[in-house]
Amino acid sequence: MIDLHSHTWFSDGLLSPQDLIKRASELGINHLAITDHDSVAAHAAVSAADIPAGMRLIPGVEISTLWDNREIHIVGLFIDTADPALISLLQSQQAKRRERALDIGMKLEKAGISGLKDYLAEQPCEAVSRNHIADFLIARGHASGKQQAFSKHLGKRGRYHSNAHWCSISDAVAAINSANGIAVVAHPDRYKLNRIKLRRLLTEFTEAGGAALEVSYSNLHPDKMKNLADLCCELNMWASIGSDFHTPHTTWMDLGRVRKLPAHCEDRALWLHPRWTNTVE
Ligand code: AMP
Ligand code: MN
Ligand code: MN
Ligand code: MN
Repeated sequence: MIDLHSHTWFSDGLLSPQDLIKRASELGINHLAITDHDSVAAHAAVSAADIPAGMRLIPGVEISTLWDNREIHIVGLFIDTADPALISLLQSQQAKRRERALDIGMKLEKAGISGLKDYLAEQPCEAVSRNHIADFLIARGHASGKQQAFSKHLGKRGRYHSNAHWCSISDAVAAINSANGIAVVAHPDRYKLNRIKLRRLLTEFTEAGGAALEVSYSNLHPDKMKNLADLCCELNMWASIGSDFHTPHTTWMDLGRVRKLPAHCEDRALWLHPRWTNTVE
């Protein structure tokens, strides 16, 4: 089984890289990509002894970008995690994450909610995310759950919303390509784009040097998956699959919980890409 999108505690996942790999292996995954938000620290934290026989660990990342005033996530797979251009971009993204967390912290203080800074200082992450801040708000009794923390507090219409000044799609694709990786548009139906805008996004992405599209992922309706597979064929892109795993508690996003690619785009599967076949046995 293949899963090309997952998070560890170096971004907003719950597990250490070692526990993530162990869980993936127990669930029968033999090709796993770790794709933390704006961080490749998990890859440096893994040693050969952590990887069970028969499992291939694929170095990845998920970069937050801004396109048409929306946050679009670009996954990079098979990246050289030591590439200077990639590292420099990730450092800048991490700084933006810290600035945004400070800004939200100030807004919370003004509303009488203190302690975010201390809470975040205790987290093992390298890339701080709104997911951590949502956990803080839930722990302090200001939201009943993640969904509410985002809709009431942290999302675009939330009371404590703060804009992040992410890099552009072409910056993210350029850094991934510089690191010899494959750039993938993550979870395309989560951006609430109509068909025309989605096609425009994907066209600009491929013109910038992007190669692939997530066609199958957690919680995606089969009809939507078919539409994405059609677009993938039409725009001559490679097809990726990934759960976007963050925590075992979100059972519908568990590792490997993804449908097979539709038959008509099987020949575009990422595992047929030369970068994959040259790297992964
Ligand atoms: P950030 O990368 O800091 O913008 O934080 C976004 C992260 O928060 C995403 O990667 C998700 O893991 C999580 N997230 C975003 N929106 C929601 C939501 N409505 N409910 C639960 N988690 C969310
Ligand atoms: Mn996340
Ligand atoms: Mn994402
Ligand atoms: Mn993700």
